[in-house]
Amino acid sequence: MSRVLVVEDEAHIAEGLRFNLEAEGFSVAVVGDGVDAVDAVNAEHFDAVILDVMLPRKDGFTVATELRAGGHFLPILMLTSRSRAEDVLKGFEAGADDYLPKPFELKILLARLRGLLRRGGWQQTARPGAATATPDVPEVFEFAGRRLDFGAMELSAKNRTHRLTRMECELLRYLVASGGKAVSRKAILEEVWGVQESTDTRPIDNFIVRLRRYIEESPSSPRFLITVRGVGYKFVPLGDN
Ligand code: CA
Repeated sequence: MSRVLVVEDEAHIAEGLRFNLEAEGFSVAVVGDGVDAVDAVNAEHFDAVILDVMLPRKDGFTVATELRAGGHFLPILMLTSRSRAEDVLKGFEAGADDYLPKPFELKILLARLRGLLRRGGWQQTARPGAATATPDVPEVFEFAGRRLDFGAMELSAKNRTHRLTRMECELLRYLVASGGKAVSRKAILEEVWGVQESTDTRPIDNFIVRLRRYIEESPSSPRFLITVRGVGYKFVPLGDN
């Protein structure tokens, strides 16, 4: 039985989620603010977190960031009050694996949650707008002594294995699929994040910075994840220069 932590301060939504998740066979704990959410994950095992953004004491972005920084790599489904692009990107940047704008349909929430719980199964649950069709990328991609396992959502490099969030995985998969060609930040927004409106693209740059720390010997002079001035990024599996 999967154990799910629901972090939601609106009691009627929290109790509605508890009732419906229990009816679907999940074991559920509910907390009403961000501080209790971090404490709960530190204190006991959960298989997934349903995390509201607007919370007392500590917002959902901060909770997700702290959980990832603390080494917790359980799936996080974020509930946003708006589907504004910047909130979505902020959520992904904080380490959320997926998001659902409020008000949500229970059926969709359950489908997303089950997708996230099937680690590796999420590739098959395409989100509207996001292109997940990259059939030319193998499940495991090896380059220059590094190993990217998209199924296990892990990246092994420099004698360390890093757990990846779903969006880190999707970004790497997209860059690998681009076959050494430069891709624009706008294309990444649309194809990886499923965000169509124009918005601040700095979260993408922050993703790249994080991935470089994992992959590159010297993140400040990258050889694999290369910045293409005026365009965006390209992935060079054999290493530049
Ligand atoms: Ca709230």
